[in-house]
Amino acid sequence: MKTAIRMDDITPDMNHAKFGRVKAILEAAGIKPLIGVVPYSRDETLRIEKPHEEFPKMISELERAGWIVALHGYHHLYTSREKGIFPINEFSEFAGVDYDKQYVMINEGLSQLREWGLNPIMFMAPGHTFDKNTLKALKANHITKLTDGFGEKPYIRDGMTFYPISKKRSECISDKEGFSTYVLHTNTMTDRDIEDFECMIKEHRSNFISYDEYMSVPAVQRSTFENIKEYLMAYAKHLLVSKRASKGTVIHQDGK
Ligand SMILES: [Zn+2]
Repeated sequence: MKTAIRMDDITPDMNHAKFGRVKAILEAAGIKPLIGVVPYSRDETLRIEKPHEEFPKMISELERAGWIVALHGYHHLYTSREKGIFPINEFSEFAGVDYDKQYVMINEGLSQLREWGLNPIMFMAPGHTFDKNTLKALKANHITKLTDGFGEKPYIRDGMTFYPISKKRSECISDKEGFSTYVLHTNTMTDRDIEDFECMIKEHRSNFISYDEYMSVPAVQRSTFENIKEYLMAYAKHLLVSKRASKGTVIHQDGK
C-alpha cells in the first residue's frame, strides 16, 4: 500500500510542541502531508495553548514547501446528530445542516484561510461526516476534492474527487496494491504515539508518499453498488468504535 498522511485539527491554539515533533519526523523523511486547518475554531477540546501569532506564516511556509492545505470545517463544533453519507460518526458540523448555511460556512471558512495566506484546495469534514448538500456547497465554492471515504484509490462521486482514508494502521504498511491515507491528530498523541509513529515511518518508509503524489493518482468513477458498500463499511466501523467506547476505550471525537 502507498500511504499519504493527513494531519487533522490544525489551529492557531493547537499543541504546537507536538505538531513540531511530528513535523520534524515528516521533514526528516521527506514526506509532505495534507493538513486540515480549522478557520474559526470554537472547539474547546482543540484549545491547548494561547493562539500563536505566527501561525499563518508558519503554515504558509509549509504550504510553499509542498504541504497541502484542506479546509477542516468551520467552528469544528458538532451541531447535528446526522451521520450523512459516510456514517463513521453520529455527529456532524455539516450533515443535516441546510444547504444555504453550509454554503456560507464553506465560503467564509475558505476566505479566512485565504486571509491567512493559504490556498485551500480540499475539504476535510470534522468527524468525517458530511451529506450531499456539503458536496453541492463545496462545488459551488470551487472545491472539488475531499479527504474521506474508503477504497484503494481516488474515486469520483457526485462530481467530487474523494481521496480515501485507511480503516486501520496495518493496512497502511501492508504489501497490498493501492493507496490510502493515515490520519493523525497530533493534539492527542502521547510521547509513545509519537515515538511509534517515528519508528513506523523509518521501518516502512517505502510505504509512505507525499500527499501531492496521492493527488496525482488518476481517480476512478464510483458505481452505486460501491457507494452502498462503502456506506455499510463506514457504518460497521461506527458500530465497532461505539462498542469499544462502551467498554471504556477513549475515542477521539474525530472518530480516530
Ligand atoms: Zn477535526
